[in-house]
Amino acid sequence: MKVLILGSGGREHALAWAIARSPRVTEIVCAPGNGGMAQNSRCVPIDLKDLSAMVRLAEAEQPDFTVVGPELPLSLGIVDALRERGRRVFGPTRAAAMLESSKGFAKQFLERHHIPTPNYAVCSNAAEVAKAIDIFHPPIVVKADGLFAGKGVIICSSRNTAAEAAQGLFSGALLGEAAEQIVIEEFLEGDEISFLCLSDGKHVTPLVPAQDHKRIGEGDTGPNTGGMGVYSTDALLDPAMSEWILRHIAEPTVQGMAEEGTPFTGVLYCGLMMTARGPQVLEFNARFGDPETQAILVRLESDLVDALEACVDGCLAETPLGWSRGASACVVASSGGYPGSYKTGLPITGLAAAAQVSGVQVFHAGTALKNGQTLTAGGRVLGVTAAADSLTEALARAYQAMAEVHFEGMYYRRDIGYRAREKKS
Ligand code: AMP
Repeated sequence: MKVLILGSGGREHALAWAIARSPRVTEIVCAPGNGGMAQNSRCVPIDLKDLSAMVRLAEAEQPDFTVVGPELPLSLGIVDALRERGRRVFGPTRAAAMLESSKGFAKQFLERHHIPTPNYAVCSNAAEVAKAIDIFHPPIVVKADGLFAGKGVIICSSRNTAAEAAQGLFSGALLGEAAEQIVIEEFLEGDEISFLCLSDGKHVTPLVPAQDHKRIGEGDTGPNTGGMGVYSTDALLDPAMSEWILRHIAEPTVQGMAEEGTPFTGVLYCGLMMTARGPQVLEFNARFGDPETQAILVRLESDLVDALEACVDGCLAETPLGWSRGASACVVASSGGYPGSYKTGLPITGLAAAAQVSGVQVFHAGTALKNGQTLTAGGRVLGVTAAADSLTEALARAYQAMAEVHFEGMYYRRDIGYRAREKKS
């Protein structure tokens, strides 16, 4: 079986690693891939913004199965385009991916289906914003509608700053691109949980839960990033809470999408805030998270290809997933200066020694393989990931492996998983 993986990040390297473990898979092609994926698979260049180029690639490669990693190709309709050509592809259609690509759509959908989410108003101009913010008590959350890689969310300490932020989003001054709609939202306090599920459009199967660290600085300080680390343990959610989230959030979402004529197949990633009044949906993603996927897949004992195919074939209910008990952690090494500007093309050393540490997988993100040498090629460079019986052990292994790796300006947080460790003590 030949599998085509679209994407180039740590998530896609983890997917390629898990897919390669399936005995049915004989060939993996990554487009465009990265320096880590290039070591075990053929990588072909592709522009993930160019729908017709991706379709041409799939027609030329003739994979038996295609897995779409990032949100952009999904929001462009890659799944619709490949399905129309009779290709088997894992991921939601363009209409179903709107749960991620439009925050306004997602909020109104949640309201229609009585799924818990913070109070909100969708606004298209400054006058609507002025009216909406009067009824919210600061802090007020202002979100741009659309895909802004986590950068379109601003937490404002006063109504004035909320109005200014909204204006900055409408004008394009804040994100470099004008937002047509924005969402004003009630600020919630609590622990955040990433609750990812697979769905075949009817059935929902949760993956193990994870908690990520989005800020660059230790103690969750400084600017937001794509994610500096994540961990997964059974203790993150007790079985009753997990069941509640499944019954009151994930399943009604999949059922609601089916009722509305846009069935959701793929990964439904529920970004939840665990509040005093129960779990609330902060956002949906329509794909695997990055770096959640790295920490989740090292705990998966079943065949990932069987599970992804079951989503496409509508038989997920008959395809249970097996997980290792215990924990996993992924620590991200980033380029100095990230999430601001940073250098690329710097040689990375110690990767082989890091991979020798028991239970460790070094997933590449922003790397490139040039003349046999691995070079930095992005902001988030590596996700050093480890599974073990306990979180303490998983973190010890990940940090032991990280200590072997070096590149100029390398930065990583040394406190991944600190909230879980604080709770235990
Ligand atoms: P989102 O892309 O909507 O998940 O927002 C990105 C991050 O902003 C979340 O992971 C939260 O840390 C924070 N955030 C978003 N919405 C809220 C909210 N209503 N209350 C508190 N924090 C929020």
